[in-house]
Amino acid sequence: MDKRNFYINGKWVSPSKANDFKVINPSNEEIFATISLGHKEDIDIAVKAAKNAFVKWKETSKEERIILLEKLLKIYKKRFNEMTEAITIEMGSPIDYSSSTHTISGQSHLEDFILRLKEFNFEEHFDSKSNNHIRYEPIGVCGLITPWNWPINQIALKVVPALATGCTMILKPSEIAPISAMLFAEMIDEAGFPSGVFNLVNGDGAGIGTHISGHPDIDMVSFTGSTRAGKLISKNAANTIKRVCLELGGKGGNIVFADSYPNAVRDGIRNVMSNSGQSCDAPTRMLVEKPIYERAIKEAADEAKLIKVDMASKKGDHIGPVVSKTQYDKIISLIKSGIDEGATLAAGGPDLPNNLNKGYFIKPTIFTNVTNDMEIAKKEIFGPVLSIIPFETEEEAIKITNETEYGLGNYLQTEDKEKAKRVAKKLRSGIVYINGNAADAGTPFGGYRQSGNGREGGTWGLEEYLEVKTITGWK
Ligand code: NAD
Repeated sequence: MDKRNFYINGKWVSPSKANDFKVINPSNEEIFATISLGHKEDIDIAVKAAKNAFVKWKETSKEERIILLEKLLKIYKKRFNEMTEAITIEMGSPIDYSSSTHTISGQSHLEDFILRLKEFNFEEHFDSKSNNHIRYEPIGVCGLITPWNWPINQIALKVVPALATGCTMILKPSEIAPISAMLFAEMIDEAGFPSGVFNLVNGDGAGIGTHISGHPDIDMVSFTGSTRAGKLISKNAANTIKRVCLELGGKGGNIVFADSYPNAVRDGIRNVMSNSGQSCDAPTRMLVEKPIYERAIKEAADEAKLIKVDMASKKGDHIGPVVSKTQYDKIISLIKSGIDEGATLAAGGPDLPNNLNKGYFIKPTIFTNVTNDMEIAKKEIFGPVLSIIPFETEEEAIKITNETEYGLGNYLQTEDKEKAKRVAKKLRSGIVYINGNAADAGTPFGGYRQSGNGREGGTWGLEEYLEVKTITGWK
């Protein structure tokens, strides 16, 4: 696939300078596409287009924007299978899983943001006694930087609310998995959004990511990715005081109380291994209450051994490879560090699964007898690796769960409803999942502490892209 062009000002255009980058299929390590890594000049051209387009786009009514978003939704549904194929090849998610989780997430964000936009009041009176008026106005030109692990989910969570609120934007998707983003750009083009409202420039973080976060004509950066890059972006954005929204890493705890429902441990294993462990809110530290610890570690190891690992192109229920050689090497070295630190390897390990001889595949790996100060319990491994930690009391479980620099998603399992609520309130994270219940579309998603500082999704997601203005003397 030749995917060297960028989408700027309503057209697919050549980059300012050639700078080819090969995109690799992680299931077979083969190159399947070539993109270009952009330069500062490409960003400057895209920012100029977005700045010009903002003048008219910010004045559109929400009804006009709803019509275009509804067209986009129709096109998304029509090209659903293409999106599934793009995600499967670029980041190694198995085809059935891509369709039922990744691709559908883009559709459900589109549907939900359209609904929230319909309900959203951009103008409101302050209160009946006041003559002050409140207006919500689009913040301006947005730089949107996204990762590879949930590619279209992250893109939809940024691009759709930016479009909905009347912002213009430059999307820089992950260079490792850029094909789904380019397909989404084709859909936006087909829907007929005005030129310059949406622009896409491919590139790497050090090259153009830095230019985006420091750009004086970009009013806001919304970033999803590693805490490492989030820190660099915050520092680089400081000189222009732009709004910075960060959705970063995590090291979720999953507290399994002795009175949890029968399948709690097995479900926890499936959850952490899905997407090959590459989810920011994966429950990668399982805390198990002492009375059921021996049973839990046996169930965990048995369940991990049942999970099949195979090529992403194969249909059925299995996990695929991790995304790249860099991630593969990092995960293997963390597995080895767990062994060296004295944790017990109960399943998996650093060798390739028996059925595969190439590709970035890792066996579902379980460590038991882990303490919270080990590297494997502290670092975001971002692979199919779980650490099991025993605990004795509710207070201890809360303390261990909160003893991390992150605070994105935590989980707890108990049949005692009062205990569940009590513990959920004490966990320092943006989301707490009780007994495997999913979060509904439109609920806010984001982190405490080093997991970030914003909220995406629903009305909260719209508000991230808005300035709030008070006007006095209105009546
Ligand atoms: P990454 O930080 O390496 O890259 C993410 C994006 O940022 C890419 O587009 C990359 O090119 C760009 N980038 C890298 N350095 C940059 C810099 N200095 N300035 C500007 N842009 C830069 O992360 P990744 O490996 O692609 O993604 C995995 C990470 O994303 C994990 O840590 C995961 O937890 C996190 N994540 C968080 C959420 C969330 O909602 N909190 C969701 C998904 C992923």
